[in-house]
Amino acid sequence: MKGESITARCLMCGKTYDVPSDHKEYPKLAASKSSAPAFICDLCEYRVRHEADEQQKPKKPM
Ligand SMILES: [Zn+2]
Repeated sequence: MKGESITARCLMCGKTYDVPSDHKEYPKLAASKSSAPAFICDLCEYRVRHEADEQQKPKKPM
């Protein structure tokens, strides 16, 4: 039997994904009783993390 998956929509890019049961967001999605739970997909999460890194770089004061 294949693992279960949940169809969830990415909050950032709006695409829907089948989130497999081994995905780290799966428990959260499974716990939310919504028929269309939302999460942040791996791509967007990577992008957010990358942008956060950029913001942590010291900036010259104006
Ligand atoms: Zn996304």
